[in-house]
Amino acid sequence: TRTRILAGNWKMNHGPSQAARFFADFLPLVEPADGRSVVFFPPAVSFAAAREAVQGRPDVRLGVQNVHWEAGGAFTGELSVSMAADAGAELVLVGHSERRHVFGETIDETVRKTVAVLEGGLDPVLCVGETIDERRADRAEAVVVEQLGPVLAAVPVEHLARLVIAYEPVWAIGTGVTATPADAAAMHAAVRRTLEEVYGAGAAGQVPVLYGGSVKPENAAELMSQPGVDGVLVGGASLDPAGFAAIVRAA
Ligand code: 13P
Repeated sequence: TRTRILAGNWKMNHGPSQAARFFADFLPLVEPADGRSVVFFPPAVSFAAAREAVQGRPDVRLGVQNVHWEAGGAFTGELSVSMAADAGAELVLVGHSERRHVFGETIDETVRKTVAVLEGGLDPVLCVGETIDERRADRAEAVVVEQLGPVLAAVPVEHLARLVIAYEPVWAIGTGVTATPADAAAMHAAVRRTLEEVYGAGAAGQVPVLYGGSVKPENAAELMSQPGVDGVLVGGASLDPAGFAAIVRAA
């Protein structure tokens, strides 16, 4: 069985002092546990504070919310993979719906970023998901397959063990509306089929697939009980220490 991953994406929330306060409250509420990995994606300016706070807790890993695919240079406002690694990041979010839909990130850019993250030795968490219009047009699975295909074509099987996928329906993000457990299970099955078509069942079986979109303490256990749901990627509810601790304990 795959390790459960409980990930918090803080988005543009929690500066360094709030990050330190968060961990002072959160860490005592969560014991390290086998088969469970807790991950946070703080804003880059809060990364050092987060790293300091989680020292001595190998069950808690840190990642960054975005990187550029180039190794360095004149790219104002961007982070390279090697800089993120040097700061202590182990994972990188790629293709989050806000990157795609608010900042216009293309599928080609998600391919470049995923490849750069893998080549730099970090683990990409590739986010995919359909909009409400795409779901109403009965295109949810097709959209997710279109977002996955070019990335998987660029990821050699020897790197597959480090890939994580997050299915995050755009209409469920920050809306309070969660996918029904059955819809989540169906979409996770579609992601798994796509992985199996590219890599075969054995290799594809290593890839964790997380659900994201209005995950809360009240719905986390039911979502994670669905077949193929290996964990959760949580936005708003990861900002509250007690709330996120409850989600972690639901795993
Ligand atoms: P919410 O949990 O706030 O809906 O955000 C989900 C998300 O986008 C996590 O990456």
